[in-house]
Amino acid sequence: MRRFIFVLLLALATLSWHSTPVAAAASASIPPPGMFQLPFPLGDTWTFNGVHGAHKEAIDFSVGRPWPRWRADTSQIWVVAAAPGTIRKTSSCGFEIDHADGWTTVYYHVEHILRDSGMVQANEKLAVIANTPREAICEGGSATGPHLHFGLKRNGQDVPIDGMILSGWRIHSGRGRYDSNCARMYIVRGEQRLCPYTDALTNTGIPADGDNGTALAQNNNDDSPLSGGAESVQIEVDSVADRAVVQGVMSVQGWAIDHAAPDGTGIDHIHVYLDGPAGEGTFLAEASYAIARSDVAQVLGDERFRPAGFVYEWDTAHLSPGQHVLFVYAHSVTSGWSFTSRTVVVKP
Ligand SMILES: [Zn+2]
Repeated sequence: MRRFIFVLLLALATLSWHSTPVAAAASASIPPPGMFQLPFPLGDTWTFNGVHGAHKEAIDFSVGRPWPRWRADTSQIWVVAAAPGTIRKTSSCGFEIDHADGWTTVYYHVEHILRDSGMVQANEKLAVIANTPREAICEGGSATGPHLHFGLKRNGQDVPIDGMILSGWRIHSGRGRYDSNCARMYIVRGEQRLCPYTDALTNTGIPADGDNGTALAQNNNDDSPLSGGAESVQIEVDSVADRAVVQGVMSVQGWAIDHAAPDGTGIDHIHVYLDGPAGEGTFLAEASYAIARSDVAQVLGDERFRPAGFVYEWDTAHLSPGQHVLFVYAHSVTSGWSFTSRTVVVKP
């Protein structure tokens, strides 16, 4: 939603200011989809963790689950250039690469840096991840084990890494720092979605078709105006866009799961309220639940999430025209009620 408003504002600005180069530069808050690969060698399989840094400009990568401990042999765990550019060694444990259009990628917690300066190619081996804390944090900061800290800058300033695409994987930062809840923090490529800390990530390179999974990412509930409850519960309303204009009977469809449930979807009831959360709003109905959603099972990589769908046929005919808020509650067998919401505009 925020992204949509931003694009809208930008479009309005462009209209009134006759599309100045300034407006064009402001829209490029993330690099183009085909610009960067993952910062480890093509064909290698690593894992990643939550987004962090003062401006949420960084993400960490390392190998294995769990990550290697200090003093492990990291001499073959290579860090590579994410795109062609000019390398600048910044210390014994860090370097930066300046790319086209003012973009810079940052590499930290490394050792044995092979180049001080000059041109580098994409996927060129440049250093290995440091295997002692003393070397890893030579410029300060902290590290709990050998890994690569990878950051993004533009024109010398940190840039939030949310939305950056590496080897076709689009980063979705989630909330706060080091968000590890896969309902909010994940990377997505096409129909594939990977979770931080646990999922194996193989670098298959930049896809030829520029596939970046934006369609799936845009449906995530962290852009909703209001939501709450257990962090492990994910509720998606996919038939109603936020601020959708509605009229007559509207099918409210989506899916809900509890990632922390020991088996099944973990959800047993869906309740729908209007113009306020439970206790304040009007209770509308219990939605039908346990509808098969093979797409959800596939995306989440677990068949137990197949019966996650819900549907409620909502008759908006006798509502007052204008803005209303729909609250969708899911009851988890382990953590109770959670909810998400959608603002809709009823057509007169
Ligand atoms: Zn880091």
